[in-house]
Amino acid sequence: MHFNFCPACGAKLQPAPEPHQPQTCAACGAAHYRNAKPCAGMVVERNGRVLLGRRAIEPHKGRWDLPGGFLGEDEHPEDGARREILEETGLRVRVLGLLGIYMDPYGYGESAPWVMNVYYHAEPLDDTEPQPADDVSELAWFAPDELPARMAFPHEDQVLADWRKLSRR
Ligand SMILES: [Zn+2]
Repeated sequence: MHFNFCPACGAKLQPAPEPHQPQTCAACGAAHYRNAKPCAGMVVERNGRVLLGRRAIEPHKGRWDLPGGFLGEDEHPEDGARREILEETGLRVRVLGLLGIYMDPYGYGESAPWVMNVYYHAEPLDDTEPQPADDVSELAWFAPDELPARMAFPHEDQVLADWRKLSRR
């Protein structure tokens, strides 16, 4: 993914000479880096089961997904993940640890932006039943041997594999 035009002066831009290098504008000299967008989510576990939500929005509408979402500009990933879990499920959680960091495109095709997904392992603070809201149509708890064959985003299969390793399931 790259810019066609300089965001600073509007001149036409050439692609970056090498992967992971900026596109430097020949007209004004500004260097433009493309970075993955930061997202944060959680593997929320209760009685050995993980909470999944069915996506009510594109991309991958209708597929099972771990709760989470895009971060605000100055938002710490843990705060953002807590906010998303509360918005999507109504649950307040205790974080048990950082599960990992996972790269994935968001959406379909060559122009899909890359996302850097930070995941925490967490448990609910109390016995509140989760209620689907926001961009989730349905919520359910899944045992390790009941997980969907394919999650909404490929990185989520890895997140759940890492969770199972962590819990030795
Ligand atoms: Zn420029």
